[in-house]
Amino acid sequence: MARITIDKVTKRFGSFTAVDAVEIDFADGEVTCLLGPSGCGKTTLMRMVAGLERPTGGRILFGDRDVTGIPTRRRDVGMVFQYPVMYPTLSVRENIGAPLRHERSLGAAERARRVDEMLDILDLRHVAHAVIDQLDAGLRQKVAVGRAVARHSQIVLFDEPTTNVEVNAKLQLIRAFKDVTQRLRQTIVYVTHDQTEAMTLADRIALMKDGRIVQYAAPRALYDNPATVFGGWFLGNPGMNFLPAALSGGRITAPLLTEPLPAPGRLGNGDLKVGVRPERIVLHDAPGDGAVGARLLERTIGIAGRYLLKVDVGGTPVAVKASRPPRAAPGEAVYVSVPPDAVLVFADGERVEMQ
Ligand code: ATP
Repeated sequence: MARITIDKVTKRFGSFTAVDAVEIDFADGEVTCLLGPSGCGKTTLMRMVAGLERPTGGRILFGDRDVTGIPTRRRDVGMVFQYPVMYPTLSVRENIGAPLRHERSLGAAERARRVDEMLDILDLRHVAHAVIDQLDAGLRQKVAVGRAVARHSQIVLFDEPTTNVEVNAKLQLIRAFKDVTQRLRQTIVYVTHDQTEAMTLADRIALMKDGRIVQYAAPRALYDNPATVFGGWFLGNPGMNFLPAALSGGRITAPLLTEPLPAPGRLGNGDLKVGVRPERIVLHDAPGDGAVGARLLERTIGIAGRYLLKVDVGGTPVAVKASRPPRAAPGEAVYVSVPPDAVLVFADGERVEMQ
């Protein structure tokens, strides 16, 4: 059983709180990505799971076993870091096999089988006899993964393992991580500040900010239904648009909306905003069809078959990812509409359930 329970875990460095009373369970056999901006406490939380950092308060459990005071070497976790630690003059095969040498219960045949398994899953057969020094950063990281998972530890921790890998090799590496995690079903905690990586790899993402977890959800749910303005803004490229909204007579009005939304009864007079993803906004060249008037602010740029434009809607700059370029030139009128299910409402930074 390798569920990881983080029970009110806090880590302070002097008077600074890096991890603030975090309470969360990472499910058995799932890949959880700890995602968040630099300094939000991801690495510190992961280092506490590894036993490399001692919590100031709270407990960490693997299954039912309290590991809070247990040193790293007795926790049975595999680890992959930004800079892989390996024997530079040994071959790929020897490096992957090295941690297995200490596994007394495994016979030579089983050790060889485990190494072969890693070479296959990670597509490293062609370099099995190359020495580490001859490999590029992407391949070295694959070997590091092989080393970390070959022992079949129930828990494997990754700390930004693709940071030093160039873009093309990065995609391959992420594909290899995915293959390994799907085949072995170990419980994985993967630290990254790269949302694409998290969206690709994670069963669930724990989104962090200022030492706390602000949302723990499947990637698509996190993207479609961010619990906070921060989540909407942090995920997406560009992130969610937020427009000032007003509450009057039980109805919510905002510049993008042609029809006001019925407000849930409990909604107070806090800071009210509506959030819309740029790709959910529809561009029109003429008024009508529920579109509101806007003004094109900048020249449109094309990215991967989409057109990214910025328009002014009632004084708020709004990003739009359209399927075609606008006919208008900067400064001229355009028209935009949003389907009702694309509009989220936030009060004081938190999403409001509309039912
Ligand atoms: P990054 O992606 O930049 O590594 P992170 O989310 O992993 O960010 P952490 O490395 O966990 O963030 O750091 C969280 C905060 O704790 C940062 O402000 C960092 O400066 C601080 N911190 C981390 N380790 C120590 C330490 N040993 N002593 C003092 N402060 C620390």
